[in-house]
Amino acid sequence: MLLRIALRKNPSKLTALTVAAALAVAPMSSASAEPQKGPPVIRDTESEQLLREYTRPILRTAGLEKQNIQVVIINENAFNAFVADGHRIFVNYGAIMQSETPNQIIGVLAHETGHLAGGHLAKMREQLAQAQTQMIIAMLLGAGAMVAGSRSGSNSGLSNAGAAAIAGPQEMIRRTLISYVRQQEENADRAGVKFLTATGQSPKGMYETFKRFTNDSLFAARGADPYLQSHPMPAERVAALEELARSSPYWDKKDDAALQLRHDMVRAKISAFMERQDTVYRRYPLSNDSLPARYAHAISTYLHGDLRSALAQIDTLIQTQPNNPYFYELRGQALLEGGKPAEAIAPLRKAVQLSNNAPLIEMLLGQALVASNNKAYTEEAIAILRAAVARETEAPLGYSQLAMAYGRKGDYAQADLASAQAAFLRGDNKTARELASRAKTRFAIGTPGWVKADDIVVAKPPPGQNSN
Ligand SMILES: [Zn+2]
Repeated sequence: MLLRIALRKNPSKLTALTVAAALAVAPMSSASAEPQKGPPVIRDTESEQLLREYTRPILRTAGLEKQNIQVVIINENAFNAFVADGHRIFVNYGAIMQSETPNQIIGVLAHETGHLAGGHLAKMREQLAQAQTQMIIAMLLGAGAMVAGSRSGSNSGLSNAGAAAIAGPQEMIRRTLISYVRQQEENADRAGVKFLTATGQSPKGMYETFKRFTNDSLFAARGADPYLQSHPMPAERVAALEELARSSPYWDKKDDAALQLRHDMVRAKISAFMERQDTVYRRYPLSNDSLPARYAHAISTYLHGDLRSALAQIDTLIQTQPNNPYFYELRGQALLEGGKPAEAIAPLRKAVQLSNNAPLIEMLLGQALVASNNKAYTEEAIAILRAAVARETEAPLGYSQLAMAYGRKGDYAQADLASAQAAFLRGDNKTARELASRAKTRFAIGTPGWVKADDIVVAKPPPGQNSN
């Protein structure tokens, strides 16, 4: 399953390091940014599991394993990766697609972990606050000079002096911030290489990736690349990184073949789900019968409506890897979306079992049980979905399916509460409040359901979101 959903909290409103770059480009404008919903996020157990395995050893060696840091995949094709709030690393799916080896994306994750471990976000916030104060003082001084200029009734000489008084310090502050960002980048590079060495991994992929972004590269020529904007990549930085990386005893160490295959499978899946069909078949021509190519073909076939052919292709994948949970998940998803929920139940049960009860897959199984319209499944669906939402607290799908299951059972208090929780997670606070208010009237006052509904009624929307 690969879901595209909106992120409830908007990382760009949470003082990303990118703020510094934005401020450097357009000094005062970032303060007036419109409140907006978070970017759409991609949820997929297979991809998330792989990224978790990529980051876990690095976080451990960085002393961050207890912080529960998540890797979130953003639905953007451009190359980007950033930290925004101290407990999440954001990665565009484009960064995964452009990383040909696990080691390349692991290098980027190690660099981002360097930002987290160095507390760069908090330090950057301080720098920004200082810069803002300096900017305001500069503007007041400049405004004073302009007023003086206009009062003296003279020609534009003094007024221009006023404008210069504004522009001068702004330019200085801009340069200070840029050099500060560069310093942080170099520190994150060094920390990243250290983490890779401590975990016995090569820093070559990190170097290869960053080299692609050097200022004279194709990427720089494209201009507006988000990663390049937040990661100034002067040649000296890349040269320093190269020297450091080449001194690693693991420089020539290659990725494990099994890991490379999983990486290729995730890239094939992302391509098939996210890219145009002709792009998918250009990357994975029909003549390519590798497992990743066959995965991409099967997904593309199901997405474009040929269920029977898709199922036949998925079955050959299952024959090749009979214990791969994600092939059963795909079979279940294809059947479910092809209008055959009862037939989706068996493969989804298998996928849940093989994935050690991955909550997103449990939600899909719950959906199939509910959609099969068989009352005998209602209690089981509720039990599975409750277990899933307890562990996966940010996916609205679990709650919307739970609402349907409770509705089928005639438990309208729980149904309203679950619908309210789903709306809340989608960021639709108005609907969430209405449903939670109605749920409160159905529960006895003070019961756990009433308390949960009340929490939603009184909840403040997260910063950066409209209150409607
Ligand atoms: Zn960085």
